[in-house]
Amino acid sequence: MKDVTYSTKMEGPNHELGEAQIQIRYYEEKEAKKRARKALLICCGLAVAGLFLPIAHFFLVPGFLIAGIFAFLFFKKQSGQIVGGEGTCTRCQTTTNIPAQPCKWPITFVCDKCRTLWTIKEPDEKLGAVNVSSNGGH
Ligand SMILES: [Zn+2]
Repeated sequence: MKDVTYSTKMEGPNHELGEAQIQIRYYEEKEAKKRARKALLICCGLAVAGLFLPIAHFFLVPGFLIAGIFAFLFFKKQSGQIVGGEGTCTRCQTTTNIPAQPCKWPITFVCDKCRTLWTIKEPDEKLGAVNVSSNGGH
């Protein structure tokens, strides 16, 4: 697991640019598999718990088993996650926290004060993103 903080650009609805910092946590394959197994186990546990609920078990049990498979596949291929960040809105100068979310580029967030929708593309050092700090490792 490795946390990397990038200083990068964010783009507003009229293509205006602002500054944002995002923190990305990268997972190694082994860790991704571990998280995938954990998600599957939780869903199986919920499915078993659902067995004891009359009527509801008809949809709870297959529902959790299917959800478990999807969660397993989702976590298995997930190699990184955005753990947080912040961006300063150029319209109202408010700094808004970027919520934790999966790395599905481009990501979006809404300014707390003026509701401007900002878009952040995957940080690319060739396009001016700066790797501010990284820590972690094995
Ligand atoms: Zn704003």
